[in-house]
Amino acid sequence: MKTPTVTQVADNTYLASGTAVNWTLITDGDAVTLIDAGFPADLPAVEESLRMIGHRIEQVAAILITHCHVDHIGSIPGLLRRADIPVHVAPPEVGFAHGDYREQAGPLDVIPNLWRPGFLTWTIRIALAGAMKHVRVPTATPFPRDGALDLPGKPVPVPTPGHTSGHCCYYLPDVGVLATGDTLVTGHPTSQTSGPQLLMPMFSHDHPATVAALDTLEPLAADTLLPGHGIPHRGDIRTAVSQARERLATH
Ligand SMILES: [Zn+2]
Repeated sequence: MKTPTVTQVADNTYLASGTAVNWTLITDGDAVTLIDAGFPADLPAVEESLRMIGHRIEQVAAILITHCHVDHIGSIPGLLRRADIPVHVAPPEVGFAHGDYREQAGPLDVIPNLWRPGFLTWTIRIALAGAMKHVRVPTATPFPRDGALDLPGKPVPVPTPGHTSGHCCYYLPDVGVLATGDTLVTGHPTSQTSGPQLLMPMFSHDHPATVAALDTLEPLAADTLLPGHGIPHRGDIRTAVSQARERLATH
């Protein structure tokens, strides 16, 4: 197992990185909220990330999903075999979680791009991490209430449809942190730049909607951005969004 990188970004708030994908851990006493869970092969790394912050799987109060791509939900079935953990997802994403449909780039999308810098190495790496698996989370349910959730960090779901139809970011107002999933990232093995940016359109179910979803993030009072891919970003979200828009305009 590759040891995950775990970075504390605020009080009780950590970003962990596995196979070129991140997950977020938020603690409150013994309890933990886990946002996303890496590829299937990241299961030991997710467990290790919990250990590194002094916690165990049994202490995970809930898993929140930003979206149901295999690099974000891959280890959840393995985690659920070890502990009975509630899993929540935005209402429009429930069908994807249950395996009723998929909105994910597949080999036919990736193969024409293999000539691009970084693509081939990344494709092999994620294939080995279980990228071809059709992971389902049959027990995933919509959020149990509107607004802030009664979980460590009191995360507030921020629906951002686009990357998938039910993509959702999570805002932690107490610490000014925004977990942006794949709506706004800061890097990716297939990207030649670092800093706030959007993933390539081929990765999104609806790229124009992903661009429009930036409008939803812009007014939030966050100064730390925890992306699904890339390193944590410090700086107000408004500036990060305009940097991402500038990159779009120049590509
Ligand atoms: Zn992703």
